[in-house]
Amino acid sequence: MERARQFPQRHTLGLMGGTFDPIHIAHLIMAEEVRTTLGLSQMVFVPAGEPPHKMLRPVTPVQHRLAMVELAIITNPHFTISRVEVDRSGPSYLVDTLHLLHEQWGQDVDISFVIGWDSLEDFPGWYKPAEILAQLTQLIAVRRPGYVDDSAYNEKLEARLPGLKEKLRIVPVPQLDISSTDIRNRVAEQRPIKYQVPDAVEDYIREHGLYQTEIEVAVQATRHSTHTER
Ligand code: ATP
Ligand code: MG
Repeated sequence: MERARQFPQRHTLGLMGGTFDPIHIAHLIMAEEVRTTLGLSQMVFVPAGEPPHKMLRPVTPVQHRLAMVELAIITNPHFTISRVEVDRSGPSYLVDTLHLLHEQWGQDVDISFVIGWDSLEDFPGWYKPAEILAQLTQLIAVRRPGYVDDSAYNEKLEARLPGLKEKLRIVPVPQLDISSTDIRNRVAEQRPIKYQVPDAVEDYIREHGLYQTEIEVAVQATRHSTHTER
């Protein structure tokens, strides 16, 4: 946020919400692909504070997740980070985050929220989804390996949340079967994560001994998103 505010002349922003536990190259690649495809001036990464949908496992303390995002985005002048969710106590709902960002950036700023295919499926079940849509210029969905992708899919989503289709735009991005869950498991099993996260993030994980003990076979095996709210 602090960095975003230094560029008040820029009015088209992309938002990348996520737990980023840890941030990986699929996040970075999709963010840059969406940013350039839509001609957005900035992509703002918004790490979740206390994610309501990740209660199955303890989320890594926010200072680590923030530090890794900072390290990952440092080489891209169009990427920035917002602390809006981590500075707020309690669950972070996107609808509240958007209200806060509009207060900070002005009501006329165009916000496009970027969402992966797994999260899109859950979107109609998020807290106040119609109010989220109302605050977005566009909802940008990107496909993700391992998740259903057929033409009837968007119709079903529209039936669950009227008005969604009007705001929804699908942007093609390179398909990478990479997830934070798999990265955490790889670290715990001493398998490589090199090239799946930026070098600086890999170094940070090692230096701070993150993800050493964690094996999440069940979550990974189902490949189902478990959250109903965000
Ligand atoms: P976890 O396994 O802990 O859920 P993740 O890899 O899904 O981590 P998140 O922080 O949950 O990462 O995701 C943030 C956003 O990025 C979500 O909208 C998610 O759908 C999207 N995303 C993450 N990885 C990919 C990927 N490989 N391809 C497309 N979208 C992705
Ligand atoms: Mg996820």
